[in-house]
Amino acid sequence: MYGNDNYGVRRPDANSVISMDCCLCGEKMNVKRNVQGPRGFAAAMAGSKSSYDEFTCPNAQTDWHIHAGELTEYLTSIPSLRLKSIVNEELRLTLHNKKIPKGLDIVLAVDAV
Ligand SMILES: [Zn+2]
Repeated sequence: MYGNDNYGVRRPDANSVISMDCCLCGEKMNVKRNVQGPRGFAAAMAGSKSSYDEFTCPNAQTDWHIHAGELTEYLTSIPSLRLKSIVNEELRLTLHNKKIPKGLDIVLAVDAV
């Protein structure tokens, strides 16, 4: 499994990094050292293998963490500042409460700004 490389999984060169915190939720990531093999889907398709460490966020498989990753990805494609503020608020609430907020929570939070 290659997972989502941007949110919750990192694969730096073997022994190049001592520890890592998740860029999404800030949790200290678990590490598996000296993994041999393709680093991702593209490398697997190309038959390329290397030695790397695999850092995984302990929250990576939770629904709220997956949701937060999707929101972060989505933010990069929104041209509207108003929509960005709504999505940002949903992201903030998701990470703060470690659960997916209900729609009304977000509307109330954004309108209170
Ligand atoms: Zn995380």
